Amino acid sequence: MTHFTFPAKLTAALRDRALPLLRGMTHLHWAGLFAGSLIGIGILLSLASQQAEATRAEPALATVLHDNGLTVTVPLTLPAARSVNVTPATELPWQSITIKPGDHLSSLFPRLGLSPQQLHEIMALGHVTAGLARVKPGQEIKFRTAGNQLQELLYEVDEKSLHVKRESGKFAAYLTNHAVETRVSYAAGTIKSSLFEDAQAAGLSDNHTMEMADIFGWDIDFALDLREGDSFGVVYQEQFMNGLKLRDGVILAAEFTNRGKTYRAVRYSDPEGNINYYTPDGLAMRKAFLRTPVKFSRISSRFSLARYHPILHRMRAHKGVDYAAPIGTPVKAAGAGKVTFKGVKGGYGNVVILQHGSQYSTLYGHLHKFAPGLKQGAPVQQGQTIGYVGKTGLASGPHLHYEFRVAGVHKNPLTVTMPKADPIPEKYKAGFLAEAHRLSEQIALIKNDRLALKTP
Ligand SMILES: [Zn+2]
Repeated sequence: MTHFTFPAKLTAALRDRALPLLRGMTHLHWAGLFAGSLIGIGILLSLASQQAEATRAEPALATVLHDNGLTVTVPLTLPAARSVNVTPATELPWQSITIKPGDHLSSLFPRLGLSPQQLHEIMALGHVTAGLARVKPGQEIKFRTAGNQLQELLYEVDEKSLHVKRESGKFAAYLTNHAVETRVSYAAGTIKSSLFEDAQAAGLSDNHTMEMADIFGWDIDFALDLREGDSFGVVYQEQFMNGLKLRDGVILAAEFTNRGKTYRAVRYSDPEGNINYYTPDGLAMRKAFLRTPVKFSRISSRFSLARYHPILHRMRAHKGVDYAAPIGTPVKAAGAGKVTFKGVKGGYGNVVILQHGSQYSTLYGHLHKFAPGLKQGAPVQQGQTIGYVGKTGLASGPHLHYEFRVAGVHKNPLTVTMPKADPIPEKYKAGFLAEAHRLSEQIALIKNDRLALKTP
């Protein structure tokens, strides 16, 4: 999936397609978020790129729009004696069974008065029905029976549905892949109480909120830096099947304004399939160090905000930053490095010290416990869980005490200039920027059209 490789028809398509979208957006939250300022170019960029993707996807989509991506029929000959006169299957009621822990079809069949032989016959249909051997608690199976004869069975999991039918005395199985439809959605909002609550109010799922925090987590410390009045806008995908939401898709682009500074990110997948977020001018969002070394979650977010003022004694005598979070919240390595210390150290309690290259080191104190398998001298990856928030040592309540040192000198990790990660690879940069430029022109056209709309 390459967002920035466009078919020629985009130019024409973009205006037709993006324009109604933008018109629609003005009736949504966008107006509120962007009032008084121009709509973020990053958002528009990806909006347009998504249009391109939708345009590209069209031919393939049309062929699979209505079910039957794959249909396999395996007839099975049954002894004639088993053919009995039964009520036509269509008049029989469906019975719906929800799988309970420990349930298997071999226990369900007898419960429904069906012989193990029938299950055996169905399973003998081969790989088509193999999924029935892996039913999980909470899943639903529907049955139609006539006396002790199974007539139909329906088992739907995610985008697949298995339909077993008795057809003139034989079982036949149909496996259908439903078409999964990807839709693009938009959400925007302003921070009033907490990131998760305000994002939810704007229509964003917790997953997408977490992802947004990850995308901007290199620049914004969501645990300490969030302020009332901060704002966000996200363009994201959702996957639907038969009109019902199946799951969240990816975030295509987002922008976040934190304390007056706006950050923008656009998702880019290079031809090799590497996916990263970049600024609209091609700089990596990823940095050598994470801003927030605690795993940010709905719970720790609420916790941090509730305890915001009392714990904000950053850079006092102890030269660190404290992150209030519930005991057990995972603590992440801020950057890739090596464990130089793991153990108990005075007031720090359980502490881990990491060395990153020759210049940088980070320290994580008051840990409840260390991550299993973490060894002194061993390498760690950025974001790897190294321990869990606790209150060991001199700590009044559960929090992570975090220190950041450059060449042995304590620095405020919230203000120190971090080494930068690689920008968009050189071989893709020209394409990325060229498309970004071309899109800017399209955006200018769309803006003009929008302005024209307001004039009767
Ligand atoms: Zn501290």
